[in-house]
Amino acid sequence: MNDITVTLPDGSSRRLSAGTTPGAVAAAISPRLAKAALAAAVDDRLVDLSFPIEHDARVRIITPESPEGLQVYRHSTAHLLAAAVTSLFPGAQCGIGPATDEGFFYDFVVDRPFVPEDLEAIENRMKELAARDLPYERQMWKRDQAKAFFAGRGEPMKVQLIEEKTAGQPEVSCYTIKDPETFVDFCVGPHVPSSGRLKGFKLLHTSNAYWKGDAKNQPMQRIYGTAFFSDKELQAHLQRIEEAKKRDHRRVGRDLGLFTLHPWAPGATFWLDKGTTLYNTLANYMREVLFPAGYLELKTPLVYNKSLWETSGHWQHYRENMFLVEGRDGEEMGVKAMNCPGHMLVFGSQMRSYKDLPMRFHEQTPLHRNEASGVLTGLTRVRQFSQDDAHCFVTEDQIASEVDALLRLVQRVYGDFGLQYEAKLSTRPAEFLGEISTWDHAEAALRQALDGARQPYVINEGDGAFYGPKIDFDITDAIGRKWQCATIQLDYEMPQRFGLKYVGADNAEHTPIVIHRAIFGSFERFIALLIEHYAGAFPLWLAPVQVVVLPIADRHAEYSRTVLARLQAAGLRAELDERQEKIGFKIREAQLQKIPYMLVAGDREAAENTVSVRHRVAGDHGSQPVTGFIEQALGEVAAKAAAPQPASTSV
Ligand SMILES: [Zn+2]
Ligand SMILES: [Zn+2]
Repeated sequence: MNDITVTLPDGSSRRLSAGTTPGAVAAAISPRLAKAALAAAVDDRLVDLSFPIEHDARVRIITPESPEGLQVYRHSTAHLLAAAVTSLFPGAQCGIGPATDEGFFYDFVVDRPFVPEDLEAIENRMKELAARDLPYERQMWKRDQAKAFFAGRGEPMKVQLIEEKTAGQPEVSCYTIKDPETFVDFCVGPHVPSSGRLKGFKLLHTSNAYWKGDAKNQPMQRIYGTAFFSDKELQAHLQRIEEAKKRDHRRVGRDLGLFTLHPWAPGATFWLDKGTTLYNTLANYMREVLFPAGYLELKTPLVYNKSLWETSGHWQHYRENMFLVEGRDGEEMGVKAMNCPGHMLVFGSQMRSYKDLPMRFHEQTPLHRNEASGVLTGLTRVRQFSQDDAHCFVTEDQIASEVDALLRLVQRVYGDFGLQYEAKLSTRPAEFLGEISTWDHAEAALRQALDGARQPYVINEGDGAFYGPKIDFDITDAIGRKWQCATIQLDYEMPQRFGLKYVGADNAEHTPIVIHRAIFGSFERFIALLIEHYAGAFPLWLAPVQVVVLPIADRHAEYSRTVLARLQAAGLRAELDERQEKIGFKIREAQLQKIPYMLVAGDREAAENTVSVRHRVAGDHGSQPVTGFIEQALGEVAAKAAAPQPASTSV
């Protein structure tokens, strides 16, 4: 037999006979590695430990510590789920079962929707199969034989998968989880070597699904689950899910009276008075930040003739995501899904000089995107939204300084909300427009700005837009989830499509570069983030109701009204709870409404012109003159002070 050379990640190499497996390689290195091994990367291709290595190759063993480890583990757990479902529901057809960021799912065609008792039974069967440590065996089948096998078993979707994923290959890989009832699945793999490796898993919920996610196709039932290497990690994750449920912006938004939704306006929000106050607070905050930084606020049209969208390229590439409307005389029009094309028209509406640049247009008017109804979720996937959008028109030489200013804006804004975040620089993709030298220059300018602003970042090689590189920002919320919000994108393309020019110092005409950027992203999504991050307990400067005045008895109502009037005159958002309820009840209600300050007014307070101050987390502050409280509260608002947090994470 031939010998081959296997090169390991540390650069060392071994001579082994051809046909050896990554499993054998791991065993030759150390018993510990063999025990931890889940799969392997052979010349960067993920394979099973049983994969025969026929040629010289680089081999890396995948363990729980490897970046790909959890994905292999979760996908293998999805197979275990499929094995359990097919054994408990004979005739169930299997669709796909990928790993996800949060766990895994598998889609099935079954006679009736799954119920919670089914999930329990399925999970118990999975545990039995895991306890028996059944091997996941990879078998190479002739492609036609595999297709015939799945067709014969009444699994047309697997036949379709084989056709799509293995075109031109004589053989395809099928997996059995070796059991008397032998479960067979077509899959490219890889998987863990045996079911005994799967320990911390839990089935979570089911949902309706369609083959390939298309409502025109076969309806399916999706089972979601999650899996971790240890029970401890699993339990921590389940706790996070519980915590996330408590913070769910849809639930908190309803409880706090911020917004409501109605099926007749899918994906569009009805902002109630308190939600509107929060929205306006954010909108005005953004204006306060941007006006001193040289931004001009615009209001541009919502509906445009298709010529605009043809010029921007959206008619050709984005039309299915737009709401199309017909003008009265048959004119084809599109509702704007983004502000950029309108801003191009504004820039082009006058002769511009290099002395006018950078020119920064900010706009908060509503945008519409025709999202599929199935993906609409609360405030996070919507059809109508507004952005804190801006387009900065700059010369080539101004890119670095403008991006530097933008990074500082992002730092300031997220700092005001107490949000942690990280930056990602996405560079030239495989398919791109323009010259490589321009791209190199732009990427260098972005790096220079990132370094200058001392902004740590990671690089996403090749992940830029086709028209220019970009910087994205991920916020990490209070329970560790990431939300992509801010973005800074360089664009050389759109100003050219619109024929934009400015007159340079050399008296010649030049095309400006545009920087698309948003800091909140959309107001809707950012508000969802804030609700979940603060669990509805906003810091004073953001709270829709900042103070509530609570008279102890009827005879204190009149004095309480004078206190309310003084608070409102000072610019505080205040309410009065005059209901004839016990003071303890009113305090509890105010706590549930997460109102930061409660001012209790009784005989002594009315006589002394004071209020008894209670903070919703910090508790009793004692009695204070009204003026003193107002001064202190206004100071807290001006400082955008963070809300005191309760000792435990649950609120
Ligand atoms: Zn698989
Ligand atoms: Zn834009």
